[in-house]
Amino acid sequence: MAYVITDTCTKDEHCIEACPVNCIHPTKDEADFETVAQLHVNPGECIDCGACVPVCPTNSIFLSDEVPTEHAEATDKNAAYFG
Ligand code: SF4
Repeated sequence: MAYVITDTCTKDEHCIEACPVNCIHPTKDEADFETVAQLHVNPGECIDCGACVPVCPTNSIFLSDEVPTEHAEATDKNAAYFG
């Protein structure tokens, strides 16, 4: 299980600051930060702590089995970002 960010993300970075294992990318220091549409959670590194959820201003972060059906593609999209 991992948390997932949906396409309502506005790249505010609050989640990046809250994440204790630095598994949300890209960060502002990474080359593709300006060009990506949203941030992503690395499902292989997320420890399911939930710290990113309350700090998201657009309520765009969900546990993978609770992703709203209209954002069903988000789980694969987050994983695909990390190859
Ligand atoms: Fe990071 Fe915790 Fe959010 Fe997973 S649930 S992305 S480990 S802050």
